[in-house]
Amino acid sequence: MSEGCENCGCGGPSSREQIPAGYDLATQLIHGQYSSSAWDFSHHLNPPESGSTTFRLESLRRGAEGFLKFAASDGDPQAAPILIYDRLDEPNILMLESRLALLEGAGCSVSFGSGMGAIATTLLALCEAGHKIIAHRTLYGCTYSLMTNWLPRLGVHSRFIDMNSTLDRAALADPKVRVVYFESLTNPNLEMIDLPQVVKEVGKLNRDRREEEKIYIVVDNTFPTPLGCRPLKFGADIVIQSLTKNLSGFGTTMGGAVMAPRHLEGSLKAARKDFGAVLNPKAAWHIMTYGLSTLTARVSIQQQNAMRVAEFLEKHPKVEKVIYPGLNSFPQRELAQTLLRSPDGEFAPGTMVSFTLKGDMDRCEKFVDHIASNSYAITLAVSLGVTKTLIEVPGFMTHAPIPKEHQETSGIDPRGIRLSLGLESSDDLIRDLEKSLETI
Ligand SMILES: *Cc1c(COP(=O)(O)O)cnc(C)c1O
Repeated sequence: MSEGCENCGCGGPSSREQIPAGYDLATQLIHGQYSSSAWDFSHHLNPPESGSTTFRLESLRRGAEGFLKFAASDGDPQAAPILIYDRLDEPNILMLESRLALLEGAGCSVSFGSGMGAIATTLLALCEAGHKIIAHRTLYGCTYSLMTNWLPRLGVHSRFIDMNSTLDRAALADPKVRVVYFESLTNPNLEMIDLPQVVKEVGKLNRDRREEEKIYIVVDNTFPTPLGCRPLKFGADIVIQSLTKNLSGFGTTMGGAVMAPRHLEGSLKAARKDFGAVLNPKAAWHIMTYGLSTLTARVSIQQQNAMRVAEFLEKHPKVEKVIYPGLNSFPQRELAQTLLRSPDGEFAPGTMVSFTLKGDMDRCEKFVDHIASNSYAITLAVSLGVTKTLIEVPGFMTHAPIPKEHQETSGIDPRGIRLSLGLESSDDLIRDLEKSLETI
């Protein structure tokens, strides 16, 4: 960091460029860093929206230097970026990325126009023809479609295994494997992967591999959010977030982000520049100003609601099974206690509840349709992590791109109902669920 405020000549303290030590993550997410070598908004309560696709360059030489230095692997991380064009780097986006890196405890963060933009660009940046991806068998539908429909065209093939099976994990030893991919809390059936065990085994394999052949552990951490699980702390290499969900939090903005070690920032940004899945700076501003600053408060209420609703459903005679990491009945209770922790170390069972009703698919459909047309507090809609409580049936909606046979082998019950808890009163949510349960 530089000494003294050089950016605006205000004579302010240099500490404006740094977040002072000792503040809680919740406070840091609200205030961020007032100024840096890339922006100076120390006089604003909120940073202004930066809306300029291109930037004035002082000289031809400086323009040339900007292109040369962009995404250079040997660049000085504290040096002021030479802003050229939005698809490369942009002030609001850089501000958001610095807060996201903080939030997930990462060396760097690179943002994208959507979660899928982040996932696709990361896999394309890490893999080349002939490389293999080993993925857990239960995945977000579009991630599965990316790995089975598109990446094979480029010679990158994926194998789907039960990541918790020692036998299946023997597949990791294939020298062609470049990426191990899974979700920290699977979508939709809330299954957890034994991350510390995978880290141990991949670490052993990497000891004998040259730098360019190393296996990266990539974890989609969208479901628990960085406030409920911190995969990097347990040794994962790269974390992905769909910013469309809890991090933006209101269901108004799409985005995605990758949190990675510093040495990957250059290749991720270079890939983003050429594939073009950039985040709109206005979206970055919204996510930073409204989303991140309210994240701790929202997640805390959503989590309380999830616990109460899960307990209500578990006791209901028409409910067959409830999956929620906060319940004693959760099958991977020990793993949940280890991995689902807030940055302060509190147990964080999350904001998502999965359940099935007794009876067949028709009964499930009748219930969900009754909610859709009669409930005021619960909305039938895909997506998750927003202020409103959403209900959906993944086997028929979000996970429709996954063939039925693969759904079965990956443990997706077609009757499975997914709830994403919002901020409503839990009494209202329970009353609406109760009313629809009475009709079936
Ligand atoms: C929504 C979601 C994605 C994709 O994110 P988009 O922002 O919709 O592109 C990826 N993974 C998980 C777990 C998700 O829930």
